[in-house]
Amino acid sequence: MKRKSGQDRDITKNWKPATLAVRGGTARTEYGETSEALFLTSGYSYDRAEDAAARFAGEQVGMTYSRLQNPTVEMLEKRIALLEGAEACRATTTGMAAMTAALLCQLSAGDHVVAGKALFGSCRWLTDTLLPRFGIETTTVDARDNAAWEAAIRPNTKVFFFETPANPTMDVADLAFICGLAKSHGITSVVDNAFATPALQRPLDFGADVVAYSATKMMDGQGRVLAGAICGTEEFILNTLLPFHRNTGPTLSAFNAWVVLKGLETLDLRIRRQSENALKVALFLEGRVAKVLYPGLASHPQHDLAMRQMEMAGPIFSLYVGGGRAEAHGLLNGLQLVDISNNIGDSRSLMTHPASTTHYGMAEEARLEVGITEDMLRLNVGLEDADDVIADLDQALTAIGR
Ligand SMILES: *Cc1c(COP(=O)(O)O)cnc(C)c1O
Repeated sequence: MKRKSGQDRDITKNWKPATLAVRGGTARTEYGETSEALFLTSGYSYDRAEDAAARFAGEQVGMTYSRLQNPTVEMLEKRIALLEGAEACRATTTGMAAMTAALLCQLSAGDHVVAGKALFGSCRWLTDTLLPRFGIETTTVDARDNAAWEAAIRPNTKVFFFETPANPTMDVADLAFICGLAKSHGITSVVDNAFATPALQRPLDFGADVVAYSATKMMDGQGRVLAGAICGTEEFILNTLLPFHRNTGPTLSAFNAWVVLKGLETLDLRIRRQSENALKVALFLEGRVAKVLYPGLASHPQHDLAMRQMEMAGPIFSLYVGGGRAEAHGLLNGLQLVDISNNIGDSRSLMTHPASTTHYGMAEEARLEVGITEDMLRLNVGLEDADDVIADLDQALTAIGR
């Protein structure tokens, strides 16, 4: 394969993110195809037995088996690494595979993890249920409270794990402080950046060590495939993550990698328009419901911090309709355009009731502690005309007497 278009760091180093999103990582075959080739192959053949031996020994460049390498998946990994400003990236089957691998590849029995309390439901399951089963202790802290991170550190603390903005409470964590604190204690910071994507926030610029993604969300962006990614230094990806990833096998399929490559081409456009739409919708809702939590609104308690870390506030926010589950479900059931759906990052507007869906598996006490109440809803604002989304919410709110 030719390594021309966007594969070479010398060519790409002056490219801006929108250019990298379209061209970064592309490797053309001898046919000169403009769109990325889709390599649906599980294996690779060798001209001579000695070539096979040399590739397995790492003495010859080339691929051996698609659990280990695939040209389409590699294009995606290079593109995401370039967008993130990371030395290296490894793609995974799902966002949860990325989170699990990013943690388990570096943790052993006897280690300690400090994690933000407000995490994606399955991420809380990792910290509260899975890790302790293998003798890895976890402490959860209010990720907004810098002093709480410092107080939670123990001699055996190995990893800090958090998301910002957090799902679905929209808590914003201070990237520079938390990642700097981690660094000064030899702790690895792992940031789940699904809500912002590298188009709006680049945690590595604030000192993060590892950035992990659900690429299912904004990176695909059109609700088609599940995917994930882990970004970090070459040293971390090659020596810490790859042994775990290659041998346990959460490898992204070439087809799904190809879909996400196509998604990335429009990431910059989509996330900016969706952020603009979300701000309009949030401003409308602010006057109509008990509370709106959107980092892009001046009313968000950490608006200033959010806007120092993020270029725009993204497509997702939470709202409290007032009352309880009956009102929240009533609003959902009255929607005519916005879908009732627990996905996010889609080009369609989607709304869900976290307490009974995405965070159903979290203990009620833990839910309430972070503010996931029965009247809370989470909205992903899509690419539709914001006025149509507002009109739909308006009629659904009117129907429940708001
Ligand atoms: C969706 C999501 C995940 C999990 O990603 P999947 O692709 O669904 O496995 C993890 N973290 C956050 C913040 C998410 O929104």
